[in-house]
Amino acid sequence: MKQFVFLFSVWVSSLLTLYAQNQLPVNGKFQLLLLPYSTSALEPYIGKETMETHWGKHVQTYVDNVNSMVENSDLKGLSLEEIVKKSDGKLYNNAAQVWNHNLFFSLMSPTPQKAPTGELAAAINRSFGSLDAFKEAFNKTAADVFGSGWTWLIQKKDGTLEVKQTPNGNCPINEGHPLLNLDVWEHAYYLDYKNKRADYIQAFWDVLDWKAVEGRYNK
Ligand code: MN
Repeated sequence: MKQFVFLFSVWVSSLLTLYAQNQLPVNGKFQLLLLPYSTSALEPYIGKETMETHWGKHVQTYVDNVNSMVENSDLKGLSLEEIVKKSDGKLYNNAAQVWNHNLFFSLMSPTPQKAPTGELAAAINRSFGSLDAFKEAFNKTAADVFGSGWTWLIQKKDGTLEVKQTPNGNCPINEGHPLLNLDVWEHAYYLDYKNKRADYIQAFWDVLDWKAVEGRYNK
């Protein structure tokens, strides 16, 4: 009985987490995830106007598109993650963009933990040699994305970590467990950095909260 109560409480709490993260639709609709900080909180690294446009307009559009496309599809009622895994075409593009942005914006903080610790720090050292070597590989990959896309740190099924890029809105969720991602679409940095993507990539490390990344490791 005790075991049943325990499993039931785990199930309820994971369901509540999914709702809180807007990974499940409420009354059939996905919502724009609420940011855990104000739109000016990440200045000067990411400006208020960027946040208002990027989060408030671009991501809202992806959310609206998913809601209208899923309405008459057989994927209606599934979690966002399931929709990303099972959809293709326009629905995939929009659902993956919502998923990608939910992760991206939830990993930043005005008061970030500046470096990984514990098991994640050890895993980064095993896979890349050092934190600096990882950042160098990540920065290079992010700079090399041609056009619009994303850069990722994923945990593969064998436990090792890998840096990779995806074009457009593609999400690598079928290849491994995404630990962190960086949006390198121009809409993410053009108002703050114009054509200088490298400066934006550098600024990302000042607002990335490694505590949030650690919370995803081995999950
Ligand atoms: Mn974006």
